[in-house]
Formats: sequence, structure tokens, C-alpha cells
Amino acid sequence: ESLDKGLEKTKDSFISKLTKAMVGKSKVDDEVLDNLEEMLVTSDVGVQTTLKIIKRIEQRVEKDNYVTTSDLDKILKEEIAGLLAENNSEDLSDYEIPKVSGPYVILVVGVNGVGKTTTIGKLAAQFKKKGKKVVLGAADTFRAAAVDQLKMWGERVGVPVVSHGMNTDPASVAFDAAKQGLDQQADIVIIDTAGRLHTKVNLMNELSKIKRVIQKFIPEAPHEVLLVLDGSTGQNAFVQATEFTKATEVSALAITKLDGTAKGGVVLGISDQFKIPVKYIGVGEKVDDLQVFNKHEFVDSLFN
Ligand code: GDP
Repeated sequence: ESLDKGLEKTKDSFISKLTKAMVGKSKVDDEVLDNLEEMLVTSDVGVQTTLKIIKRIEQRVEKDNYVTTSDLDKILKEEIAGLLAENNSEDLSDYEIPKVSGPYVILVVGVNGVGKTTTIGKLAAQFKKKGKKVVLGAADTFRAAAVDQLKMWGERVGVPVVSHGMNTDPASVAFDAAKQGLDQQADIVIIDTAGRLHTKVNLMNELSKIKRVIQKFIPEAPHEVLLVLDGSTGQNAFVQATEFTKATEVSALAITKLDGTAKGGVVLGISDQFKIPVKYIGVGEKVDDLQVFNKHEFVDSLFN
């Protein structure tokens, strides 16, 4: 399965670090817990979330008095699953989109290079496969490449792309995309935005302007603000999540390139730290390598 394959590096690293953490001991003690802590931090779970997990395991060790290291992977798996469940209460099935009046509008944000365009293309393909009518909006107008690439995906997948070309007003592209979606009774409108982080005020203004113009005729839109993060960038992904959640209300995460990293712990850490559900994960470059996030399958892939 592509999820197992995509998470292989993380899994291998998890298992070898866990084995090392036990240092030939039969009982979980402070040293084992210290090693476990280091294992989680070096897997990009993030310090805050790591300490939370360690504390919970410590409490179990105290309560049960004697916990064997052979039970450690089972315990860790349970704690990770429990933590994921806190911010990922629903398990979405198969690219389902809630029913709304008019098109369901997804605003996609994230810095350049994280896989934003690819994720939009893959999403469009999956939605279309499910029989949905999709319109894309190329509102990342600061890079010619971004517009071209989205058009390429549109052609490949067979969905219309609304574009005014480079250096045009992103909000006006978003307006037209949403309008076309409404007029043509599309099910889903996905809008690509520019990911310029170095000017936070600009980013904030731009995103609120985009929201404002869409809301003129679809008042509840955007129904989703999807932040795309590159899972292989570790602490950078945490920094980007901090910046974007400050600039706008992010409702869901897509974490890409998990196939290229041994530090898939970032999925757990970011979701926990920012209290945002992970909706999609990228485990490769092919269309089917974008997957709807399922916490049970994710944890199973890491431990089984
Ligand atoms: P953007 O600048 O954020 O729009 O990024 P792109 O969509 O252009 O993606 C940048 C690169 O990352 C491209 O070469 C993609 O094929 C690649 N990419 C995107 N998602 C994934 C993924 O899940 N796994 C891998 N291995 N590569 C990915």
C-alpha cells in the first residue's frame, strides 16, 4: 500500500530509535524515558508534544509500577493515537466534502515549494474521479510558474482554471473563480494563493481581501482554509504554521513529502500544537499519493 511505502522511512527510523531507547533493559525507567524523549524530538514531533507524550507514559509507569520495555511500542502507539484523536476527531472517508449551498470553496495557503500546486492538482483529480465538478483559481499571481503549473494540472485533470495571468490582482482571480463555480454549479472551487511569508501584513491583507470578495456572493466561503506544509522541512514547517495561523484562520492541514523524510512525527506535532486537523498527507508525486488522512491507518503504518 502506498501509505505504508510513503511512511517507510519514518517507520524504520521510529523502530530503530525505539529499540535503541530500550538499551537492553527490561523495565521502563528514567533512562528509557529520556531516550524516548530524544527519539520523539529527533522525529520532529516537537518539544511541546513530546513532553506531553512522555508525561502520559510516565503516569502510566507510575500507576502500573512496572512496565516492561516490550510493552513500550504498544503504549507509545496508544498515546500517539490518543493524541491524534484530540485534533482529528472525524475520520474522513475518501475525499468527501460537506454539503453546502453553492460550491464548497477551499482556499489553499502555504509558502512556495511546499507542494501547494501539486496538492491542488491531486485534489482536483480525486474530486473529479468522485464525479464532482471542480473549478480552480490561479490566484498565486506573483509567479508565472505557479499560474502555468496550475493550468497544466487543469489540463491534465480536465478541470477549468480561472486565471488572469501574472501580476494581476489575486482577489479578482478568486472572485472570478468563485463566480464561475457558482454560475456553472460546480461542487468545489479550489483557489491557489501566493505564499509570501516575508511580509506578514501583506499576506494577511491579501488573504482577507480574497475572503471578502468571495463572500460577496458566497457568504459562508471559504468553507476551508487548507495550509500546505512540507513535512520534510521539520522546524520550518512549525514556523510556517505559526505565521499562517497568525495571518488567517487555518481550518485544515495538508502535510506533503512524507515519503522523503524519516521525520514523519511532524504530522503529530503540528496537529497537536496548533489544534488543527490534518486532512491530507502527501506520500509521493503521483496523483494517488495524496491521501485523505486517517489517524488509525497512519499509526498502524508507523508501528506495524
Ligand atoms: P508549490 O511551489 O508549493 O506550488 O510546490 P509544487 O506543487 O510545485 O511542488 C514542489 C515539488 O514538490 C514538486 O516537484 C512536486 O512534485 C513535489 N511534491 C509535492 N508533493 C509531494 C509529495 O507528497 N512527495 C514528494 N516526493 N514530492 C512532492
